[in-house]
Amino acid sequence: MQISFHGAAGGVTGSCHLVSVNDRNILIDCGMFQGRHELHEDNAAPFGFDPASIDTLLLTHAHLDHCGRIPLLLKRGFAGKVISTSATRDLTRLVLMDSAHLHEEEARRRRRHGEGEGPLYDTVDAMDAIDRFGRDAKYRKPLDLGGGVTATFFDAGHILGSASIMLDATEHGHRRRILFSGDIGPLERPLLNAPDPPGDADVVVMESTYGDRDHRSPEASVEEFYGAINDADTRGGNIIIPTFALERAQELLFFLRQGMQTKKVRSSFRVFLDSPMAISATRLFERHPEAMKAKISLMVRSGDDPFDLPDLHFTRDTSESMALNRIRTGAVLIAGSGMCTGGRVRHHLRHNLAQSDCSVIFVGFAAEGTLARIIVDGAKSVKLFGDEIPVRARIHTINGFSAHAGRTELLDWHNRTGRPETTFLVHGEKKSMESLARGLKGERIEMPRLHQKFEL
Ligand SMILES: [Zn+2]
Ligand SMILES: [Zn+2]
Repeated sequence: MQISFHGAAGGVTGSCHLVSVNDRNILIDCGMFQGRHELHEDNAAPFGFDPASIDTLLLTHAHLDHCGRIPLLLKRGFAGKVISTSATRDLTRLVLMDSAHLHEEEARRRRRHGEGEGPLYDTVDAMDAIDRFGRDAKYRKPLDLGGGVTATFFDAGHILGSASIMLDATEHGHRRRILFSGDIGPLERPLLNAPDPPGDADVVVMESTYGDRDHRSPEASVEEFYGAINDADTRGGNIIIPTFALERAQELLFFLRQGMQTKKVRSSFRVFLDSPMAISATRLFERHPEAMKAKISLMVRSGDDPFDLPDLHFTRDTSESMALNRIRTGAVLIAGSGMCTGGRVRHHLRHNLAQSDCSVIFVGFAAEGTLARIIVDGAKSVKLFGDEIPVRARIHTINGFSAHAGRTELLDWHNRTGRPETTFLVHGEKKSMESLARGLKGERIEMPRLHQKFEL
């Protein structure tokens, strides 16, 4: 039995792990490398294994850094099936179509600059990948993969449909339980259940995104969010909220609804969800009550929409989005991308950043070098579409919302896996992995390098 690591090894993105047992090859995730300039090269590089040799791909969740290279895997010969929860399958369709579209645009841009390379994959490749989704996994129901291997999915509480995956494998009478954490959510979430501990394992492959720190409490962060909305309200101008389309956008609608119901914010706000992807994701949430907290699931099933607000508008068309530029005061505009690296939010910033009565509320992580980070760090002006725009709007930063478990929660999750012989730390920066490793007592801890292989 062997395991090898072909992404998120010594870094956060590109999750892709391979287990070989009884002549079967099982891949866990096939994600995109993100965030660096040489992005295209990283993703276009060989996988480190033969895609045609993979029998089954198990997908933990729909984030691009876990599913983004699946169409490329197909292009290079993968002929097996993809297994995930049904919510993950639906969200992945959305994510892969969007990703294919971005790759096509990026390839057009490269061609204009005389670089001939085509897209990593296109819309048709993404459609083919979507066709490969076979059986749906249900939480806690073991699936027989053949060859003496079963896989069981457990709710990871990270985004809708997310899972940790336990592999039970027997080779030459030798039984091993190998647990893949996927991305683990925090204990307290508005819409999702807390992570479901999968039980004892011999080998654990674990994410370590926030292995070195805890988050602020969610209640305090929601209060801070209401405070920012009310402060922005007294200033009178528009409120821009850059956001991620999956999970965070739905959480914001839910928080706003709760705030309005408890009269912590006024209910007469005009709110615009200005992101086609977030609009579609919101519809998919309503299709998967089984993947949410019982309380929310009950609301959905009884027809009480947890994301509805008295004056909420979904603006899908570009023309509708552009019309929002004419609104001068009192609108809440929720748009992507979360780090303002692209998407419609850049247009809203262009029209509102220079207005001293407007406000921008950042509710998510902003990586070094992104426009969101530059504004959060206090830039006096920023460049948008070739123009220098002065920053006169008030900037709020809410740091406590996270889809990832903090350090204490990660340690607690690991404590419930028994006494694994080996723990492999993946999906984290070096500093964060080393800090987490210091908290995991007694076991063998490995921090694999890209393409490193281990005997189990
Ligand atoms: Zn994730
Ligand atoms: Zn991830």
